[in-house]
Amino acid sequence: MLDVSEATRNPGTVYSFDVGQAIAPQDVSGETVRFEEAHMWGTFEAMENGDVEVDGKLEVMAHARCANCLKDAQARVEADYRELFQLEGDPEDDEIFTYSSRVVDLEKLAMSYAVMHLPMRFLCKPDCREYVQYLQEQDPEPCQKELPGQHPFAALQQLLDEKNQSADQV
Ligand SMILES: [Zn+2]
Repeated sequence: MLDVSEATRNPGTVYSFDVGQAIAPQDVSGETVRFEEAHMWGTFEAMENGDVEVDGKLEVMAHARCANCLKDAQARVEADYRELFQLEGDPEDDEIFTYSSRVVDLEKLAMSYAVMHLPMRFLCKPDCREYVQYLQEQDPEPCQKELPGQHPFAALQQLLDEKNQSADQV
């Protein structure tokens, strides 16, 4: 939250800010991404028409599952932004940022920039390969599992079929 009451009384004057901003967990391509408190800092200034421009940086630690082994993974997200907050704009309009009552709420800006700058995949460590290895172990060479004699239940099934056939005949 930025109190811009002084800035709106002095359009063109640049004010600095340095705040912590909570970001709610976000569903990103079916994965839940959680955020620690974001650190946001920079400057803001009011325009003659009451709009407020916010120019700054954001740093936040994001948490999600490792794309390979599904263990917890984290990534530091950094973003630069420069956005205009319209005075009394439509808060339902996703294309714009808006504010009212002399207070600029930075949550929507923090959330959208954090999500935009997430890594393509979270990895618990840069060389995590465990999930790939796990998949290879689950799927041995097809020729091995297709050999009929190697199926442990094949012989049993054959025996049961023969018993059922003789039972039908009685
Ligand atoms: Zn991993």
